[in-house]
Amino acid sequence: MDAVQMATSPWTWQIAPAPLVRGGPMRVVLMGPPGAGKGTQAKTVADMVGVAHVASGDLFRESVKRGDELGRRFKEYMDRGVLVPDDLTVQVVMERLARDDSRDSFILDGFPRSLGQAEALDDVLGADGRAIDLVINLTVPEETLLARLAGRWLCRACHTSYHTLYSPPIVEGVCDRCGGELYQRIDDREDTARHRLEIYREETTPAVDYYRDRGILCEVPGDRPRDVVTRTLTEAIRQRPA
Ligand code: ADP
Ligand code: ZN
Repeated sequence: MDAVQMATSPWTWQIAPAPLVRGGPMRVVLMGPPGAGKGTQAKTVADMVGVAHVASGDLFRESVKRGDELGRRFKEYMDRGVLVPDDLTVQVVMERLARDDSRDSFILDGFPRSLGQAEALDDVLGADGRAIDLVINLTVPEETLLARLAGRWLCRACHTSYHTLYSPPIVEGVCDRCGGELYQRIDDREDTARHRLEIYREETTPAVDYYRDRGILCEVPGDRPRDVVTRTLTEAIRQRPA
């Protein structure tokens, strides 16, 4: 079904979020490369279906904010743009998943990000009779990811932000508001974006393959209008294997 058809077909306007979703526990992992829109979608879908949204990046940032010893270590890794080591990551996420609101159901976002993390997650949850039901991989072509990640430009003078895809300036390189020069932050530069995608390919793709081999992976195209992606994800969750 293509995007336009989905957006205009009658059922999309009659969506009642809760009844769409099969009852019982719902343990879902949402995966996808940087720039796929995973974070926003995970939060939206978790709210719609009423389960906890557990994002490893959020857990790390909370810990950094608390300023404890662990938080200081997380900050070091995050500032360098590298992954937090598996043992630390697994510990933090498993502690979160032991809480009441996520004992039976959750949507995991940003975890697992390596094969080691996927195996550790399986070991702990499996031993507890709480295995993952469904893993969704949000897929977006690499050139789109690069354009999304590397498209942001800022005005040196008034700091207005532009995006070459979504909110381009009238004249390339020049601020609409003040005529100032536009520049890119290191985080938004194409070489940084390429580096992040490479880390994803090397570290996270093996975890995606692992779930594919186990037969619980579902691929959802992420290069569609945001609400279409949300509906497709909700539908995938509703139809997950019992
Ligand atoms: P982003 O999508 O920009 O990477 P996240 O909020 O998902 O943002 O993660 C922020 C940072 O936290 C990552 O760059 C990484 O250093 C760390 N991190 C998050 N999740 C994991 C994970 N599962 N394993 C290792 N490090 C992680
Ligand atoms: Zn300006």
